[in-house]
Amino acid sequence: MSHHLNDTIVALATPPGAGAIGVIRLSGPEAIAIADRAFYGKSLSAQPSHTVHFGSLRNEQGRILDEVVATLFVGPRSYTGEHVVEVSCHGSDYILQEAIQLFVRLGARLANPGEYTLRAFLNGRMDLSQAEAVADLIASSSRASHAIAMQQMRGGFSDEIKKLRQELIDFASLIELELDFSEEDVEFADRSKLEALVHRIQRIIKALLDSFQLGNVLKNGVSTVIAGRPNAGKSTLLNALLNEERAIVSEIAGTTRDTIEEVLNIKGVQFRIIDTAGIRDATDAIEAIGVEKTLQKVQSSALLVYVFDVAATQPEEVRADLEKLVHENIHVLVAANKMDLNPYTKQEHYFPKDSPAHYHWVPVSALNKMNVDYLKDSLHDAVLTKKVNLESTIVANARHYEALQKAYESLARVLEGLSAGITSDFVAMDIRAALHHLGEITGEISTDDLLGNIFSRFCIGK
Ligand code: GDP
Repeated sequence: MSHHLNDTIVALATPPGAGAIGVIRLSGPEAIAIADRAFYGKSLSAQPSHTVHFGSLRNEQGRILDEVVATLFVGPRSYTGEHVVEVSCHGSDYILQEAIQLFVRLGARLANPGEYTLRAFLNGRMDLSQAEAVADLIASSSRASHAIAMQQMRGGFSDEIKKLRQELIDFASLIELELDFSEEDVEFADRSKLEALVHRIQRIIKALLDSFQLGNVLKNGVSTVIAGRPNAGKSTLLNALLNEERAIVSEIAGTTRDTIEEVLNIKGVQFRIIDTAGIRDATDAIEAIGVEKTLQKVQSSALLVYVFDVAATQPEEVRADLEKLVHENIHVLVAANKMDLNPYTKQEHYFPKDSPAHYHWVPVSALNKMNVDYLKDSLHDAVLTKKVNLESTIVANARHYEALQKAYESLARVLEGLSAGITSDFVAMDIRAALHHLGEITGEISTDDLLGNIFSRFCIGK
């Protein structure tokens, strides 16, 4: 991807399709001039920044295409840092396409995916992690993913990285200075202070690294699997959770055909729930729990809701099922279902006090929607156990995670080097590596490949 900022780009900023209004955005040195050639009513070039103007849009022959409102942003006080004109038209596909074609004939070029945000980055309006957050913000579909994206876009995360990086740069320059005086064997950089700084930076990076799993989960939804024997009530429970009749419930085992994935939003956290009712082996229903596919789903999930029928399943069977399903990276909720049939069922009966297996016990009646809210609360608490504050700094971006990890490793080498008393040039090299990786997050260090990779994932018009 080559980045030339000397042309003017145009694209639809609102989704395609009919709507009350559709917004076309022009950005670049000629944005105002090009808009002016099609805009009738007044001269946009003569207007101050951040003003809104009513007029008509006409083609080269003077035919009126639409009555529009143009919003003017004179660079650099705009999203991209360039001159920007946003033209709000009536939201007809025909009008919008005609208008875009008109602007292209008048000198604009169709924008590439993410090009507005790329320009904002290249013009220093935002750093790379903030630019990436714009994509996340647009894609956010729950309170949690929105909070993370918003926090990142407002610079919370990159501010922290930039501060750490600056402190490290200050130290690095002292060490580099030593290299210039290598003959004289002087030390400008206080080794114990450097060590303390590296430790401090590592601690902060570690906390950010640790937040990744949660961040990812909050951003993409928590993968949750509902498993249990045929007729345990999995589909009914899923329906109760979703509060509607989505999954097909049947009294004949093996009737739910496909794996169903549903999205459930509990107090701002998104759960992607897989109902394994469909992945049972019809010929061997009792052993269905061991079916390969179920196990695979469970392997790749963060949360398991194991459902069993309190009136039909023996404690040994429940424990045996769980033994097959549980792995170390999964949080398990045991939903003791059909409590209406057997209201006196006790947890101790299934998991004796002295047994090593203890799971979060949730008695429910899926059919009567009894205690389903408690199950929801339990799901939510399983994710946000440590009372995670959604406004706090959370890393949710895999690219950032990788860069942080590499920075952490470089810093570990700095520490090793310091304690082994190696020469300044090697210490300097590892510090430079750490600086490089930290700089990659905010875009102080960036390559065309990296930028191409990030911005091509945006849609056109963003
Ligand atoms: P699945 O095979 O695990 O998906 O089980 P289903 O959800 O299809 O339920 C099997 C049968 O159990 C259906 O007839 C449900 O109506 C019934 N069922 C589910 N939950 C309850 C419950 O809480 N109480 C009672 N009495 N029956 C239930």
